This record gives sequence, structure tokens and C-alpha cells, in this order.
Amino acid sequence: MEEKNEIAQWQKVLKDKVQPGFMTPWQDETKEEEFKAIVRETLCSINFLKGDMGNKRCFLGEGKCSIKNENDIIKVKNEANMPEKSNYIKDVMNEASHYLNGMFNLMHPQVMFNVVPPAAIPSIMGNLMGAMLNPNLVEQEYSGNVAALEIEVSSMISKLIGYDPIKSAGHFTFGGTGAYLFATKLALTKCLQKESRFKGIREDAQILVSKVGHYAVKNCSDWTGLGMKNVRAININEDNSMDINHLEQVMEQCYQEGKQIAMIVVTMGTTDAFGVDNIKEIQQACNRFMMKHDLKRRPFIYADAVIGWAWSMFNSYDFSSNPMEFSKDTLEAIKECKEKIKYLNLADAVGIDFHKTGFTSYNCSMICIKDAEDLKILTRDKDEMAYLYQFSAYTPGEYTLECSRGGSYALAAWCNLKYFGLEGYRAILGNLIEAEKALRKVIGKEPSMVCANERDHGFVTLFRIYPKKLSDASISEDFAKEQYMKEFEDESHAEELRKYNDYQFKVAQELQRMLFEENGPALSFTSKFRLTPYGEPIAAIKAYPMSPYMGCCEKEFKENIIKYILEAAENVDKAYSDRIF
Ligand SMILES: *Cc1c(COP(=O)(O)O)cnc(C)c1O
Repeated sequence: MEEKNEIAQWQKVLKDKVQPGFMTPWQDETKEEEFKAIVRETLCSINFLKGDMGNKRCFLGEGKCSIKNENDIIKVKNEANMPEKSNYIKDVMNEASHYLNGMFNLMHPQVMFNVVPPAAIPSIMGNLMGAMLNPNLVEQEYSGNVAALEIEVSSMISKLIGYDPIKSAGHFTFGGTGAYLFATKLALTKCLQKESRFKGIREDAQILVSKVGHYAVKNCSDWTGLGMKNVRAININEDNSMDINHLEQVMEQCYQEGKQIAMIVVTMGTTDAFGVDNIKEIQQACNRFMMKHDLKRRPFIYADAVIGWAWSMFNSYDFSSNPMEFSKDTLEAIKECKEKIKYLNLADAVGIDFHKTGFTSYNCSMICIKDAEDLKILTRDKDEMAYLYQFSAYTPGEYTLECSRGGSYALAAWCNLKYFGLEGYRAILGNLIEAEKALRKVIGKEPSMVCANERDHGFVTLFRIYPKKLSDASISEDFAKEQYMKEFEDESHAEELRKYNDYQFKVAQELQRMLFEENGPALSFTSKFRLTPYGEPIAAIKAYPMSPYMGCCEKEFKENIIKYILEAAENVDKAYSDRIF
């Protein structure tokens, strides 16, 4: 008894509350069972948020949103409270699960709002393993053999896209934006020399990217100090790929202005429409440009393939015997895309998001660099980092932006690649393209709807819907198609384009309401997936199937998706009957 009194309060807290909050250093069956119980209960409270089998509700739990406006945010801030006493883990986990109410259930086939995948179980377990044991890929010493695993993933990807894995290098980073930033830094340093890392960027080097390239180019030019004005946007073709003639004109302009081109970004799968640039032609254009002006250095070509990389799973697919037995349309769609993706190896670096088309959770992205020698120019001196790199053969922290870089990214990606293999990924992608084909067929049969990215063949479908009333004024069966063509091509219809852009938004907004109140599908809206040839933004509603539980039955699409869209449009027509539409 007396001895007990000698235990200070802090020791008691440490023993009773703090230590139980950690995994044990030794094998311990009781502790292990406790941990499993926590996992089991957490799983239970998460599962509780899903609907029963076949339920159309595609968000978790209740559709209540706690931060609808500024005041709600202030309320959350005021009520935020760090507890004085420690709690039970199970209670904390249960409380945390409430915050998932109203979130899209990404596994659900009716969730089609963007290129946001559900995470597959192997990647979840990879993440969990990383979270439990906490490897840091700053260097080998801090990550055990997870360092080898990262090298393995980058080699698997190198082989997949056609790089030589011995010459190439790759590392995981915090997102497609992180990969883009690394490529920008590398391209700028190669262009402006190593000195620029010390003296700063004092020259207007240029970055060229298509008009529908991702806005990450703005972040990267801004954050590297290059300045956003040094980005030049290249026109696009009807299929949303880069217009090579315009590219050549702009390169020439840069030359005439005496400005060096640091980087050309080729987008392999644009975010909204899935436009795929033609790397091969872009590289040829670069070669012509260099020949013409007798230049020594080719602009760095970065492939922003964060979405499109996964199509390289089909590089080795036998399209003539089609062993996966895809439908004709799907097979053609995949093949068309593969014909461009197979030239990924012409890029100097490639950005890859496993958290998009690799089916892991956020964040999980990688940059692959064709020639590892390129990295030398970014490597810091070892004595600038005196506490690191004493004992490791693998030291990516010498050139990455990150110091700490968790091993979970690499573990998650590795587990998925090993689990699915080419076969599994082909089935995931093939199914989603089958779904896209079916959805477009159904849209094609609706006179009031028109597909706006017909030439692109990813999973994503952009479409516009027009008020029924408009059909009275048209003699065409396909009045929506006719109307959209006019708006797209003919500037004299710009006013209508703008008006019906607004209409798309209103329908999308109504769909948002129906999603929560009537178990409608989760679709989304883009205010500008591209410009018309005369320079006006085109808005569209976006259907981006991502779930492996996605079906491709036309009847179901009609029932579960189209019906809601038509109804949403009708509701908008009624609500604005006195107005312009
Ligand atoms: C999503 C996306 C990015 C940005 O990637 P993050 O992982 O979100 O940082 C860049 N480029 C394209 C084409 C994208 O679709």
C-alpha cells in the first residue's frame, strides 16, 4: 500500500492512460486483442453509416452539413475544445465517425462526382502498416526496407511506362501538385543552371501547357518564384488535346522574344474531359525547334499523367485476341488512348496519382524521372543536413522538398499493384469505360441532353441538358445536340451559351438537393471545362464513375441517373417558368 503512494500522479496517468494508447514494444496477446477490438468497433461505426444492400443513398449517414456558412464556421471554432482529461479510445473513435456523416460513400456506384476513387483494401492495409510502424523515406536508415519497397514501386512504374528502371528514379510525394512542383523545380534548374538555386530566379523562363492543363501550373510557377505570367497557354483541338501548330507558333514567339522555354507540360488525361496530349508530336515539334535555331538544350518535357498513367496497364495487352473480352466500343476507346499513352517514355518525367486511377486513398503520388542523373543538379550538400545521411545508400531526402516523407504512400501503392496486377487494373478500368459507353448511349437517346466530350474516351462524361421548351422551337429530333453545336461554333450564339451555362448550374444545384433529399446520384458541375473556339467558357454537368461496383446496364443508368437529371431540369423549368429559360 505504502509503495503505491510513491507513484506520482504523472506516472499513474502514463501507465493507465498513455501507454494503453500505444502499441506495445513486445508481443502481447492481450494488447493485440484490445487493438483488434478498437478496429472492429471503428469498422462497425463506419459500416453503420452505409445503407443496406441495394439502397440508393450514396452518402454516409445523415445528409446534414455542419458548415453551411460563415456563422457555422465561427460556431465550430468557438466550440472547439481540448479535453482536460484523457478518454477511452473507443469513445474517441465513435465520436470521430460522426464527422463522416454526409460524406459521399465513394464505394457506391451512384457516386460519380469526380476522379475520386474508393481506396482498395490492400492499400488501406498498406497505409495502416505505415501508420503503425512509421517509416520515414527521407533515407534508408529511417525506413528499414520500405526504402527498397519505394525503389521497387518506382521500378515497376518505370517498366510499365517504358523507362529503363536502372537509369530512372522515382519517389512518392504529397500529390500530383507535388510531382508537378518537383518537375518545375528540376526543369527550371536545368534551364537556368544550378546557380539559380543560390541567386534566385532572375530570368523569365517559360512554361508551356495546354489551355485545359491543370491549375497546378499556376501554383508551381508562383511557388517556385518564376511567376505566373511566365506560363503560356496553348490552344486545344476539338478532342481537348494540345494544338501542335499553335505550340510551334508559341515556341517561335518565345525564341523571338529571347525567352528560354524551361518546360513543356503534356497533359495525359485532363481533369474534366480526359483530353490526352500527343507526346510524340510534341517531342517532334521540340526537335524541329531545336534544329531550326541550333539549340543545345531541349525544353524539359513533363507528362502530367496523374490520371492517364493507369492506361499504361494496357501497353502489353493483346488487343487482337482481347482476352478480357471487353466490348468493341470499350476496346477501341482503350486502344485509342493507349496509342498515345505508350509514348509516355518520351517525357523527361512523369507524374502519377495513385490516389486517382490507382485506387488508393489520399495522398499517394509519385514522380518518375527518366534520367536519375538529372537529380544531381537538385541535390543539396550533405553538410547542409548534418544529422542525416550518415549510414544510408538510399537518400532521396537529399533532393526532395520534403524532409519527413512517410512510408505509407509507397506501402499503399505497392500493396495495390501487387494485389491487382495488370489483370485487376484492366478489369477496374475496363469496367468504368464500359460504364461510360453505356451512359453515353443513354444520353444519346435523350433529345434534351448532349454529351460534350464525345471525342474523349476516359471514364468521364460531360453533358449539357436543355429545357424541354426549347424543343418546340426546333425541328430536329436531337434539339440539344443542335443547340450545343450552334453555341460551340457560332459566336452569334454566345449569349445563349452563357444563358444555358447558367441553366447547367441550376440543374446541377437541383441535383445536389435531390442527392440528399431524394437519394439521387452524386454528379458535379464544371463551370469551364474548356473554351469555345471563339473564347467563351463552356459549363457542363460531370458524371465520373469510379466505383468498382459500377454496373454498365443501360436500363439502370436510365433508372438511377437519367431519371433524376430529367426531373431536376423539369424542376428548374418550373421554378424559373417566368424567366429566361
Ligand atoms: C488532379 C490533377 C492534378 C493535381 O493533382 P493533386 O493530386 O490533386 O495534387 C494535376 N493535374 C491533373 C491533370 C489533375 O487531374
